Amino acid sequence: MPGFPRGNAVVKQDPRSSLPAVDALARKLEQGLPGAAPWALALAARQAIAEARARIAAGDAMGTPQALEARARACARALLRPRPARVVNATGVVLHTGLGRAVLAPGAARAAEQAAAHYADLEIESASGKRGERLAGVRALLRALSGAEDALVVNNNAAALLLALNTLARGREVIVSRGELVEIGGSFRVPEIMERAGVRLREVGATNRTHLRDYEAAIGERTALLLKVHRSNFEQRGFVSEVELAELAALGRRTGLPVIEDLGSGSLVELPQLGAAAAASHAKARLATGVDLVCFSGDKLLGGPQAGVLLGAQSVIQALAENPLARALRIDKMSLAALDYTLRALAEGRRAELPTLNALEASPEQVRERALELAGRLEQALQGALQVEVERVRAQVGGGSLPGLELGSFAVALTPPSGHSADALSARLRAAETPVIARVQEGKVLLDARTLQPGDPECIEAALLAALR
Ligand SMILES: *Cc1c(COP(=O)(O)O)cnc(C)c1O
Repeated sequence: MPGFPRGNAVVKQDPRSSLPAVDALARKLEQGLPGAAPWALALAARQAIAEARARIAAGDAMGTPQALEARARACARALLRPRPARVVNATGVVLHTGLGRAVLAPGAARAAEQAAAHYADLEIESASGKRGERLAGVRALLRALSGAEDALVVNNNAAALLLALNTLARGREVIVSRGELVEIGGSFRVPEIMERAGVRLREVGATNRTHLRDYEAAIGERTALLLKVHRSNFEQRGFVSEVELAELAALGRRTGLPVIEDLGSGSLVELPQLGAAAAASHAKARLATGVDLVCFSGDKLLGGPQAGVLLGAQSVIQALAENPLARALRIDKMSLAALDYTLRALAEGRRAELPTLNALEASPEQVRERALELAGRLEQALQGALQVEVERVRAQVGGGSLPGLELGSFAVALTPPSGHSADALSARLRAAETPVIARVQEGKVLLDARTLQPGDPECIEAALLAALR
């Protein structure tokens, strides 16, 4: 029997049995992290040991006890940091999904805090003490801002689309152009949402071209609605054509079918500085085409919290609100309070309070001023340790909004001393107490000034000084 002692044969021990016990490793970690929460030490020890076991099982070397301890300590440090925590977005991508998309107006953040830290009149009318409607405030604001007959708000735009499809087309067919069966951010695919909504997808047209006659030919007894999806995160150029929303809305009226547009990134105000692409995101203009329902995210171009906004005909909105799924997809009170504040700011002409709109609408000249100021601060702090320049760069809207639209921008470019790489410097900036997320390009770390928020220059300075220590 292999592995068992026989005569003078050497005992072949399973190397996994020489790994320490979780408790023992956790106690060791405590020496390096005095006062650290025991739950984190135990979890970190378990994770590092599990990883080592998996490596051994895969035939790799076991590694030293020191390496195991170092890995466990790194896991513990990661667990002990609150998450999500503040970072500096120096990427130039305004609506960065990995960095939380829109930044709330300070007043919207305070409104969320008030709703969270106190009781709130969420579902009562304070004046009468009677039962009130959760969404009454935002519904009125959304109607005023968009001209829509009625409005509904849910947890996010994926939920909005799911609810709309499930309510209006369950068990029946939904017609969509092949050019619009998009995937957004890897976890949201239009065909998969449709399947989960219980509707059958009827694709029409070709990837690059879809004509009105393609929709017409596909309409039959089982058709429930016509869907248009904004292509959010890519652009089609060349031999392409799509059916305009107004044409599709007219076809819907002729055939008695509802027409929905998933706008993805919808805006409740005009964004003339951003050009024609942004005009196609303006919810009011989309509704004016005669479409029955539009839906979009609250935390993209709108500039508010995560939410899914649905705008359209009253009968349609009412049907959606009565679907039992609406309860499962409803928005929480903190987001609702933040959305209410954001919509009020837009309705009252206080859009300057919204950091996301400011970042998008700042002129290149304003961004250059900001970059020059940051460069001056860093030059003074660094005293020649790094080469600091201001460079012209291109920033992006991001968040699946306005693909292809690049914003003229300016960045502070840091050139590390010879023998040091920009990647290593960028990694050290990410490891700072307030992590700085930057771009690396041609051997330089670029800090795009377009996405910087108040207080960020101080954080960048501290991160750089720590990185060079
Ligand atoms: C972003 C996006 C979604 C998903 O919105 P969430 O608010 O992230 O759920 C859906 N459809 C389109 C076209 C989008 O751009």
